[in-house]
Amino acid sequence: MVTEEHNRSSDAYIFELLSMVLALSGSNVGRTFLAQQLGLLQDLLSLLHTATPRVQRQVVSLLRRVLPEVQPQVLARLLNVPSLPPEDFSIIAEAKKGGEEVNLDPTKPGILDVFLICIAKALTVQMKVKGSGKAVNTVDSATSIPTESVQSSSRWWLRGGMNNKLAETIITLLKDMASGQVSEAWGRVTKGAVAENILNLTKMGENLRVPAECIKTPTLWLALASLCVLDHDHVVSLSSGQWISPDGQQGQPRPTCDNHDDGETSAIILCDMCGNLCADCDRFLHLHKRTRSHKRQVFKEEEEAIRVDLHEGCGRTKLFWVMALADSASLKAMVEFREGDRGKTLTSAISMGVCRFCGNQSSTGLLSMGNVCSDPDCQEYAKTACRKVQSCGHMCGGIAGEYPCLPCLHGCKNPGQTHALKQDADDMCMICFTEALSAAPAIQLICSHVFHLHCCRKVLEKGWIGPRITFGFASCPICKREIDHPLLKDLLDPTRKLYDDVKRKALMRLEYEGLHKSEAITTAGARFYNDPAGFAMDRYAYYVCYKCKKAYYGGEARCDEQLEGGDDYDPTELVCGACSDVSRAQVSAMSDLTGLLHGNFLNM
Ligand SMILES: [Zn+2]
Ligand SMILES: [Zn+2]
Ligand SMILES: [Zn+2]
Ligand SMILES: [Zn+2]
Ligand SMILES: [Zn+2]
Ligand SMILES: [Zn+2]
Ligand SMILES: [Zn+2]
Ligand SMILES: [Zn+2]
Repeated sequence: MVTEEHNRSSDAYIFELLSMVLALSGSNVGRTFLAQQLGLLQDLLSLLHTATPRVQRQVVSLLRRVLPEVQPQVLARLLNVPSLPPEDFSIIAEAKKGGEEVNLDPTKPGILDVFLICIAKALTVQMKVKGSGKAVNTVDSATSIPTESVQSSSRWWLRGGMNNKLAETIITLLKDMASGQVSEAWGRVTKGAVAENILNLTKMGENLRVPAECIKTPTLWLALASLCVLDHDHVVSLSSGQWISPDGQQGQPRPTCDNHDDGETSAIILCDMCGNLCADCDRFLHLHKRTRSHKRQVFKEEEEAIRVDLHEGCGRTKLFWVMALADSASLKAMVEFREGDRGKTLTSAISMGVCRFCGNQSSTGLLSMGNVCSDPDCQEYAKTACRKVQSCGHMCGGIAGEYPCLPCLHGCKNPGQTHALKQDADDMCMICFTEALSAAPAIQLICSHVFHLHCCRKVLEKGWIGPRITFGFASCPICKREIDHPLLKDLLDPTRKLYDDVKRKALMRLEYEGLHKSEAITTAGARFYNDPAGFAMDRYAYYVCYKCKKAYYGGEARCDEQLEGGDDYDPTELVCGACSDVSRAQVSAMSDLTGLLHGNFLNM
C-alpha cells in the first residue's frame, strides 16, 4: 500500500513538473533549450514506457514539440544506437550490399525502437502455422518476449504492455514524422527505420524462423509495429517484384521449373534429384514417401524475396517463410508461418491434395480426390462456395450461384469486370480478423469491400452491443458505409425496418420537444448540420421492448453509456410503457383516448 501511495504522489509530482515543462515548450526559445537537455530527453523516453496514462500523454505532446529541434544523430547517441538506418531503403540497395550483414543480430537496437515498441506492446497477435489445421494462438509481446533477455539490456522497455490509446497517439506521431511534418531529417530517418525493421525479417537466420523462437524476438514485434505505420513509398521500394541476382543486377534470366518445362514458370527450389522446381511441383513431387527424402533448397534469392503491401490501412509483408500483417486501426496483427510450405503461396488451389480453404495438405482421405479437407468448417464452407474456375485460372472465392462472380481474389482483372479488387486472397477478413479472405466464401459489399459471408451474417445476427439500440454494427468496418448485399437481405430487412421506426420516433420526439430547429442542426459545419434524424438518434436512446419487440423511448442518451454498455444487462427488464403492468392498469382505467396516446405517444 505504501508503494501505491508513493506512486500516486510521485505521479502527481511528475504531472505538475511536466505541465511546467510543457508550458516552457510553448515558445521557440523554450523548445531550443529543452532540446539540449539530453538528460530530460532520456527521462521522457523512460516515462513513455513507465508512467501513468496522463503523464504518457504529456510526454508525447512534449516530444512532438521538441523532436524537430533534436538531430536524429543526437537521439541515436543517447539511445546507444550504433547507426542510423540507410536512407536508400529500397530492396535493390539492400541486395547490392551483398551479404555483409546477412545474419541479423536481433539485439541490435534501432533509432525508433523506443517508439515502435509502444505500438508493439499494444498489439493483439494471432499466430498460426499454415497447412497445420486451424490452430490459432493469440499472443502479445509482454508474454512472448522473455524478460531475462531484455532485463539488463538498453532495451528494458520491451517489457510490459501499453494501452491502446497511447499506441494510437504514437502511430499518429510516427506517421507525421515519416511524412516530414516534424522535420525533413526525421522524415528520412523515420521512413528508413520503418523499412529497416521490415527488411530485418529477411535476415533472420533459419534458427529464428521457427515459430516458437520467432515470436520471442524483438525483431518480429518491431516489424509488426512498423507495418502499422507503413507508407506507400515503402510498398513500392520494399517489394522485390523482380528477380535480383546476387550481384544486385536486375533482369537476370530467372531459372524456370524443370518439371513444368514450359520455359516460363519460375523455379524457386532446387532439388538434388528433380532439378529446379516451382512451389507447386515441389509440393507434389515430394508428397510421396519415396521422394520426401530428396535434398531441397530454396534459392538464396528467393529466401531474400519480400513483398510489402498496404491494403485498406492494413500493412502486410510476405516472405517465403512467413506472412505478417498488422492493422493500425484495430491494433490487431497476424503472423502466419509457412512451415512445410516452402515457396510462394499456392496461387490457385484448384489442385487436388490441398484444401482450398485451410491449405491443409494430404494425399489421403477427402483430399486425395478433391480440394476440401474433412475439417467441419471447411465442409460447411464448401456448401456455399462457388466452384467455378475464373478465366484467369483461379478458383472463384465467392458464393455459388452468384452472378457475376466475385472478382478474382488474386488481383486478376477478368473479362466483364470494371476493376480489380483492392483486397486480395491473403488479406484478413476485417470482421473476424483471424482468417484470410480465401479461407471461406466471401462477398463484396456495395461499398466494394470484401468479407467472409459467414462473418457478415454473424455481425448482422448479433446486432448492437448493450441495451440501447445503435446501428454501427450494420456498417462496413472499413469505410462505415451501410452493409448491403443481396445475400444478406433476410437479415438486413428487419434491421432497416427497425432503423426506420427508431428514426421516425426520434424525429417526432425532436419536433415535440421543439428542438427540430435547434442550432445543432441549422449551423453550417456542425456535426448534425441539416441532419435532424442523425441528431435526434444521437440524442435519444431507444430500446427494444422485451414484450412487444418494438422500439421504445428510454430517455436521453448519456455519454457514459458507451462505457458501461456491454452485454451485461437483463433484456427482460426492458419493457415499454404500453407493456408495463403499471401503465396497463392506467390504460384500462382511462379512456380510449389515453390508450391511443400510449400506443403512439408513449413509445415515441
Ligand atoms: Zn512446376
Ligand atoms: Zn526431388
Ligand atoms: Zn480445410
Ligand atoms: Zn463464383
Ligand atoms: Zn485470378
Ligand atoms: Zn471473416
Ligand atoms: Zn466498405
Ligand atoms: Zn412493449
